[in-house]
Amino acid sequence: MARRLLLIEDIEEYRALVRVALEQRGYEVIEANDGAAGLEAAQREHFDAIVLDLLMPRMHGFEVIERLRADFATRATPIIVLTSKSFANDQRQALAMGANAVLTKPFDPAALEDALNKHWWRTRVSFWGVRGSIASPGPETVRYGGNTPCVTIEHGDQMLILDAGTGLRRLGMHLMRRAAGRPLELDMLVTHTHWDHIQGFPFFVPAYVPGNKVRVYGPRSIDKPFARVIQGQQDPEYFPVALGDMAAALEVHELRGEPVQIGPFHVTTAFMNHPGVTLGFRIEVDGQIITYATDTEPYATMLAQARPEGGVGEAHGRQEDARLAALAQDADLYIADSQYGPEEYRSKLGWGHTSYLDAMRMALHAKAKRVALFSHDPMHDDEMVDAKIDACRAFATEEGSDVEVIGAAEGLDIILR
Ligand SMILES: [Zn+2]
Repeated sequence: MARRLLLIEDIEEYRALVRVALEQRGYEVIEANDGAAGLEAAQREHFDAIVLDLLMPRMHGFEVIERLRADFATRATPIIVLTSKSFANDQRQALAMGANAVLTKPFDPAALEDALNKHWWRTRVSFWGVRGSIASPGPETVRYGGNTPCVTIEHGDQMLILDAGTGLRRLGMHLMRRAAGRPLELDMLVTHTHWDHIQGFPFFVPAYVPGNKVRVYGPRSIDKPFARVIQGQQDPEYFPVALGDMAAALEVHELRGEPVQIGPFHVTTAFMNHPGVTLGFRIEVDGQIITYATDTEPYATMLAQARPEGGVGEAHGRQEDARLAALAQDADLYIADSQYGPEEYRSKLGWGHTSYLDAMRMALHAKAKRVALFSHDPMHDDEMVDAKIDACRAFATEEGSDVEVIGAAEGLDIILR
């Protein structure tokens, strides 16, 4: 499938020169002859990258960049500026506004292709839903978001979807727009089948489109195959469209503990401490490690309370926690359940979630480089999530760790490498 580029350039001869060179290299090129027309085209349909001049009538390239970055649909599209302005200040300005690279004319096709590849072949993690337990939209959760878990990892053309919570609905719309009528082939890993991790699936538009292919991977439940549980939420008592009536080709695969290779993604799994059967994932791609461990409770803390005599419970718990530690070992990004505050956790012992300080202890123990606090409690408003992040950063500093702490938020993208 040829990659589609939008070329925004007002000088016709120059536009033709760039277009021909890119077409010779196998790209599909759509042209716009000024900034405003380019912005309209980019808002109307998806492009894999935008090549942009700066000095143009109707809208300056700077404004085009600013507006592309402010729009949800184009916020992450690579923008390569191609300009005859060689002023360092202008180049810095373009980069500061969100351009990915600035190349100066005369046009060098190889340099442009290098710049494009550099941005296509990064690993990007995006958050579509970060809330635990139940969707909780409202003015008090507007900054971090109210949708339940859904995260994507992209590398080159390949995408891996983690969980099918309510955040999946918006991802589906984004994918449809990006596909622009072309068939989609998608892979989705599901940690477990509690509502908050599968409820978005019936509203995932790509699963309704003939010609699309969706492969869903998840664990067998206590007494039923994974496929049966996924079908169950679309039984007629719960939803008007049965799973089998969705028009895309759906494949459901059971994960039984062995590693799987999905495109460029190498996935290792481990069972988490959570009611029912729940998996955590370690995904390795292009030398980067992403750990996704939502919905889990530290055995050590839990068993220390249950069997305090002589530290027996805690010692046993540490052995059990080694499974999660192995998943998170040296992770470049550890997406960690951090649903409760340490005080709050005392009254929620055995509910299958982690206090944020325990999440930090695990991150430090496993030497993760970056931790994304995830699975925010539906009772926690934005200020409480802010306070959680501050407390975790302070904890890391006290412990002498330079782990980077971020709060997972809907719409947040993280570029690894
Ligand atoms: Zn759960």
